[in-house]
Amino acid sequence: MKIIVAGAGIGGLYAAGLFAKSGHEVVVYEKVKRVEDMRYDWHDDVNPSVFADLSVPVPVGSFPKKNWTFITPYEKGRMPLIQRADLIDISVQRKELNKVLVGLLESATIEWGTEATKAIVDGDRVVGIEIVKEGTRKEVFGDLIIDSCGVFSPIRKSLPEAFNVPDVDRESVFFVRRFFFKAKEGVPFPTDTNKVYMKHIGQKGISWCIACDNGTVDVLIGRVGKMTEEETELSLADLRKNNPILSDELLGGGNFCTIPVRRPLSNPVANGYVAIGDSACLTVPMIGSGIATSLQAADILVKTVNATGSSDVATLWQYRVKINKLFGAEHCAVETLKNWLLEQKDDDIHFFLTSGILRNEDLQNASVGKMIKLEFPDIFHKGLVGMKNPLLLLKTLVMLQRANKAKRISERIPKTYNKERVLRWQKKTDGCF
Ligand SMILES: Cc1cc2nc3c(=O)[nH]c(=O)nc-3n(C[C@H](O)[C@H](O)[C@H](O)COP(=O)(O)OP(=O)(O)OC[C@H]3O[C@@H](n4cnc5c(N)ncnc54)[C@H](O)[C@@H]3O)c2cc1C
Repeated sequence: MKIIVAGAGIGGLYAAGLFAKSGHEVVVYEKVKRVEDMRYDWHDDVNPSVFADLSVPVPVGSFPKKNWTFITPYEKGRMPLIQRADLIDISVQRKELNKVLVGLLESATIEWGTEATKAIVDGDRVVGIEIVKEGTRKEVFGDLIIDSCGVFSPIRKSLPEAFNVPDVDRESVFFVRRFFFKAKEGVPFPTDTNKVYMKHIGQKGISWCIACDNGTVDVLIGRVGKMTEEETELSLADLRKNNPILSDELLGGGNFCTIPVRRPLSNPVANGYVAIGDSACLTVPMIGSGIATSLQAADILVKTVNATGSSDVATLWQYRVKINKLFGAEHCAVETLKNWLLEQKDDDIHFFLTSGILRNEDLQNASVGKMIKLEFPDIFHKGLVGMKNPLLLLKTLVMLQRANKAKRISERIPKTYNKERVLRWQKKTDGCF
């Protein structure tokens, strides 16, 4: 099979190597000019088990992540998260991860400095993409087009409506800036090294402030839907006020980026087309982690296609079904929780995080894309604590019901592809949000 990968996203790049290894002809088209320019110049958190499960080498320079402390709006309260040993992430250097994945490409080739602009469609099938390299436009054709261009992929956007591959609403995207500042000298090292601010200064989103061991302070400011310069400045000023270690000497970062924080696309496939990674919204809705899920999705995709030798929608639908089983249905519940949290009043978030209604296990679960569990005796405990704020308890129970419903509907995904049945399910599952 001739396989085209549009954009060297994590999932696309890993799938390219696996497909090449199984004998397919694979070309990746990536808009940046060199591997060194790819993505961000920083480290990201990944559960190390994914590297072991997929036999992918752990990138050089990875180090264990310290525990988070959750901070409630306006620094009113804090809730430390004590991670279970098997859930402790490692911080992986992005540039090293890129190098590992490029090193696994086998016979697959990368056309650097090449922008994928749109899908080429023939009837009910995607048959190629249009590319632009050094100002020259060209059409390239393949049996399978893997869309790994990120959340606002131009390939996905150019698909005909009749393919029922949905677009991504800006309200379910995190607009993010990440900065690395010099740590202020002579200031005591904080005990809460990794602080994550929920609804920071009352805005819809999170910020974090991490005092690193190497004399830098890692700052992230993320808001849902959009983020203005003014919001960034206000957030930075507030972080400086509450974190004396944070200087104003910028060492790196600062660029705008985006992360989908929602359930997977209800339909990421068509004849000859599949979306992976951020372009299919395969991130943990609560925190936007998408590295492990992208790698897992690539593994599923390659096994699915190789099992039938086909790139028809019926085969590719099996990839969507398997993703649903692995994490997609659960992510529907977690998205419900995330949307709900963003809508709550600052004081209610404070109560929710600090009263004991939400326990360490709940936060652990949410951070790895799993939903809060409501089982006896936990239901009893939550009820008892919640009595101090009955309205919030009621709202929490309604949210939990909605989350369970969203998950249940997602689990009713048609197991085999039938256009009408899939469309009916898509309407139902997307209708929960
Ligand atoms: C600030 C920030 C922090 C994050 N932290 C974490 C974390 O701690 N843990 C975690 O698991 N995940 C994290 N993520 C999310 C993670 O980066 C993504 O979910 C993951 O990389 C999957 O995205 P992707 O590779 O599909 O897309 P992207 O990373 O967006 O990659 C898309 C690729 O396609 C290329 N491209 C785009 N458009 C075109 C085009 N038209 N033509 C050709 N090439 C194109 C781009 O240059 C890029 O190489 C973070 C993201 C951000 C922004």
